[in-house]
Amino acid sequence: MFLRTLREDPADAEVPSHKLLVRAGYVRRVAPGIYSWLPLGLQVLRNVEEVVRQEMNGIGAQEIHFPALLPREPYEQSNRWTEYGPLLFRLQDRKGADMLLGPTHEELFTLTVKGEYNSYKDYPVMLYQIQTKYRDEERPRAGILRGREFVMKDSYSFDIDDDGLSNSYRLHRDAYVRIFDRVGLRYVIVAATSGAMGGSASEEFLAESPTGEDTFVRSTDSDYAANVEAVVTPVPAAESIEDKPAAQVHHTPGTPTIESLVDFLNAAEMGRTFTAADTLKNVLVKTREPGAEKWEMLAVAVPGDREVDFKRLEAAVEPAEVELVDEADFAANPFLVKGYIGPKALQDNGIRYLADPRVVSGTAWVTGADQAGHHVVDLVCGRDFTPDGTIEAAEVREGDAAPDGGGTLVAARGIEIGHIFQLGRKYADAFGLDALGQDGKPKRITMGSYGVGVSRLVAAIAEQSHDELGLVWPREVAPADVHVVIAGKDEAVREGGERLAAELDEAGLRVLLDDRTSSPGVKFADAELVGVPTILVVGKGLAKGVVEVKDRRTGDREEIDVDKAVGHLV
Ligand code: ATP
Ligand code: MG
Ligand code: MG
Ligand code: MG
Repeated sequence: MFLRTLREDPADAEVPSHKLLVRAGYVRRVAPGIYSWLPLGLQVLRNVEEVVRQEMNGIGAQEIHFPALLPREPYEQSNRWTEYGPLLFRLQDRKGADMLLGPTHEELFTLTVKGEYNSYKDYPVMLYQIQTKYRDEERPRAGILRGREFVMKDSYSFDIDDDGLSNSYRLHRDAYVRIFDRVGLRYVIVAATSGAMGGSASEEFLAESPTGEDTFVRSTDSDYAANVEAVVTPVPAAESIEDKPAAQVHHTPGTPTIESLVDFLNAAEMGRTFTAADTLKNVLVKTREPGAEKWEMLAVAVPGDREVDFKRLEAAVEPAEVELVDEADFAANPFLVKGYIGPKALQDNGIRYLADPRVVSGTAWVTGADQAGHHVVDLVCGRDFTPDGTIEAAEVREGDAAPDGGGTLVAARGIEIGHIFQLGRKYADAFGLDALGQDGKPKRITMGSYGVGVSRLVAAIAEQSHDELGLVWPREVAPADVHVVIAGKDEAVREGGERLAAELDEAGLRVLLDDRTSSPGVKFADAELVGVPTILVVGKGLAKGVVEVKDRRTGDREEIDVDKAVGHLV
C-alpha cells in the first residue's frame, strides 16, 4: 500500500476533514484548491461515485461523458461566457481560439440532445455524467471541500411539458435522499436560489456542519427549511409593489448621480427621507431594464463614509460577476460602484443580503446590515417580484416566526452537497431545443439540472464523521471493511494475521492489512486515523487462540476465537 500518515496537522488546514484527510494520507495538495487522490482517498471517492451511479441508473438516467476542455461558442450562446466572469478557467489553443474548462455542462447536454432527438416520442430523457469540473473559486478552502478542480455528478432532464419536468425533478430528489442516506450523512433539504444556473424551483441538500459556508433556517414546528438566501416572505398586502404608483417604479438609465440615487431611494418610500448629505453605510439597489437579460446592482456609498465604504464594497464584490469602475472613475463619481454583486460575497463581508436572484422581472427587496448588525436600510424598488407575486427575500433571524406560519426559525450552517433545479426553458431557448409535437407543431423542451458534489461529499462525510483520533467512515464509503493490524514481530503472529486477512478477503470483505514492522502503538494510532469501521488486532492473544475486534466508531472491543473471526465479521 502506497501510504504515509502524518503526525502533524498540515499548516494550511483549518477544518477537521482537511486536517484528517491529509494526515491519514488520503489526499495531497498540489496547488490552492487542487488536490491529488492517493490510494485510500481514491477508494473512498470511487465508493461515493458508485453510490451516486447506482442511484442515478436506478431512476433511469443514462451515463455519458463530456470533455472538460470546451470551445467558447456554446457558452457564448448561453451568455455564460460573460456571466461566469473570473470563475471560468479560460484558455486559448495554438490558433488563438478561446476555450474553457467546463464549470458545469448545461450547454453541452442541451446541444447533444438537440443533435440526436427531434420528436415528442423521444422524450423524456435523463442523462448524467460524473466528471471533473473547473471553477476558479475566489477562495478555495478546506482542502477538497471547495476545490478549483473537483468531481461533480451532473444530470439533466429533458421533458415535453411542466408535468414531465416535475416528475423528473421528483425522481432526482428521491434519488438524492437515497444517496445521502446511504453515505451516512445528516443533512437537510432547503429551499434555494438558483444562482448562475438560472431557472426557477430549486432545492439544496446541505450536510449539517458548523464548517459549512451556507446558512439555513428551519422551523421548529413545521417542515419549512430554507437557505437564508432564499427565504420566501409573502408581501404584506399594504406594501404590495403593485399598489405603488408606476412613477415610483424607478429605473435610472445611464450612470446615476447622487441626486438621482437619492430620488430613487425616496421614490421607494422606505419610511424615511434621504438627502445627499445622508450617511448610509451601504445602499444596494437592484434594477433591471425591462426585457433585458441582466441585473444591475448598484452599490452606493453616500458622503460621510465614502472612503471606507468604497473599499469595503470593492472587497464585497464577487469578481465573477462584476465589472468595477476603476479608481479614476470612482474619484470622478464617488458615489457609485457599478457591477454585479453576489449575495455570498456581500454576506462574507458582513452585509446581510437576502435577495433572491430568482426574482424575475425588475425588483428586489434588499436588506443591508453592517458588521455590527445595525440595521442599515430596507429598500424596495421596481415591481413584479416573482411569478406568484411574493418577495423572495427578507431578512430572517433566529427566533423569527416562519414564513409558512408554523413555529419559529432556528439557524444553522451546512455544506452544500447537492443542488436540484427546475431550469425550465432557459437553455432550450438559448439553443432552440424543440421537439415535434403530436400536433405536428414544434414544442420547446423544458429542462432540469441536478448536481452532486462527489469529491466534496468525501470531505463532508469526514467533517461529520471523525473523532479526536481520526476518521470514522460509514461502511458504505469506507476504503475497506476491516483493518487487520499485526501487532508483534513473532512469526506465528505474522502468519496468523496474514492467513486471517486472506480468509476475510476470500469471504468477500475488503481488507487493509498492516504488516509493517513498526511498533504496535504506531499501527494502532494509524488504524484509528485511517478510520476503517472494524479494526482486527492479531497479537499475543493468538497463542491462546483469540484475536481482538474493535469497532472504530464506538470504541467497543471484544476478544473472539480466531476460528470464528471470519464468521463474526462477514
Ligand atoms: P457553492 O455554493 O458551494 O459554491 P454552487 O452552488 O456554486 O456551490 P452548483 O453550481 O450548485 O454549486 O454545483 C453543484 C454541486 O457541486 C454543489 O451542490 C456542490 O456540492 C458541488 N460544488 C460546487 N462547487 C464546488 C467546489 N468548488 N468544490 C467542490 N464541490 C463543489
Ligand atoms: Mg459556487
Ligand atoms: Mg451554492
Ligand atoms: Mg448550488
